[in-house]
Amino acid sequence: MGSANTRFSAWPAAILLTTLALAVMVAGLWGLTWWAFCVALGGPVIVLLWQLSEARTRAREPHQARLRSCPQRTRQRRLLAQLRDVRDAASSLPDAIVLLDRTGNVRWRNAAANRLLGLRKRHPDGPLAEQLDGSELGAWLLTDLHQPATDMPAPADASLRLAVTIMPFGSQLRLLLARDISTLSRLEQVRRDFVANVSHELRTPLTVIHGYLELLDPADMPELAPVLSEMRLQSQRMRQIVEDLLTLSRLETREALPDEEVDMVPLLETLRREAEALSRGRHDITVDAGSQARLRGSIHHLHSAFSNLVSNAVRYTPSGGQIVIGWRQTADGAATFSVRDSGLGISTEHLSRLTERFYRVSSSRSRESGGTGLGLSIVKHVLNLHQGRLVIESEPGRGSTFSCVMDASRVLPPENDGVRRAQERGL
Ligand code: ADP
Repeated sequence: MGSANTRFSAWPAAILLTTLALAVMVAGLWGLTWWAFCVALGGPVIVLLWQLSEARTRAREPHQARLRSCPQRTRQRRLLAQLRDVRDAASSLPDAIVLLDRTGNVRWRNAAANRLLGLRKRHPDGPLAEQLDGSELGAWLLTDLHQPATDMPAPADASLRLAVTIMPFGSQLRLLLARDISTLSRLEQVRRDFVANVSHELRTPLTVIHGYLELLDPADMPELAPVLSEMRLQSQRMRQIVEDLLTLSRLETREALPDEEVDMVPLLETLRREAEALSRGRHDITVDAGSQARLRGSIHHLHSAFSNLVSNAVRYTPSGGQIVIGWRQTADGAATFSVRDSGLGISTEHLSRLTERFYRVSSSRSRESGGTGLGLSIVKHVLNLHQGRLVIESEPGRGSTFSCVMDASRVLPPENDGVRRAQERGL
């Protein structure tokens, strides 16, 4: 016990007294007063000092034990405070955060999740998809979550727009993040409306100007013939730009395109004929149909996207070059439409920007060949609406390959596939 440890023990005290008595006796017998006095005092002082240091050591022991446990408690307190800070910070974030367990039940959510997702306090821990039943987000949670939810109405207030992502958290949990993008979405809408309105407003006057220019016969005014021809060319360019801008505006406002069965083999042949017409014999154009599979999508839009790639290949490949229009299926069931050319090629720094509106590697070359700078942007939009993606590989001086990778869900077997398989089975 702590108090017993601090007391002097009886034995050293007895030794002390005995030494003192013996020293006085010896001093008396021998008559050595100073020597006896030193022994009589030195012995007890040593014993006394030893006892004192012992007592202090013993007295310090419980205190040191207390001190040893102190940092542990401080650490615990500090960790708890940190945990509280992290939770408070997450709670006060403007983005909705919901921690989900393996089965989709809500483990924890912040205040913004209650506000934006309208989670009811009564069933705070049930499956999130159930709590959001009837909303677009609830339906999205029941899908395989492969498609990102970049813009959808907030379940609590349809006038708010959300961008939602789900990511793994630890080994078992998932974290749902929903960001309020209403302001951004409104600005984007303003931009879209502006471009669509300007294009629409320009269309009629341009058609009128172009019509009048067509009426003018250069033979009537030979001195103005070159000017007239340039004016016609430029007005035609402007009309094409306006048409492409309107096409883009329409694509941007579409959520989906018609689901038709597109027979790829005849489409490849049509594309080849169009390329031949544009090339006028300057290129070697071939079709490499490695698959008979069909596509599920909009015939009109797919044709327009693919022919954009083919026309680019013709325009950016010098005379004598090769162009191969390909269609192949991959092992995972996906399929790729590709246009390979042996043309100018594009250096790496431009590749990621090619689908931006009006982005051109060489403006003069694009204009000379009748480009609007909007072709690849249209291709990207059409592919997005078909859950496809554009892959561009290119090397300056060696040529380019533009590939449209279509998801397996969009690929259909050849039309006569069922008949062929039945024949193979001898039915
Ligand atoms: P444009 O009407 O200018 O051709 P696009 O959007 O179709 O516009 O293409 C954007 C740019 O990408 C082009 O200006 C050109 O520089 C480059 N490009 C597209 N296709 C090819 C190609 N097959 N070979 C080389 N460059 C290409």
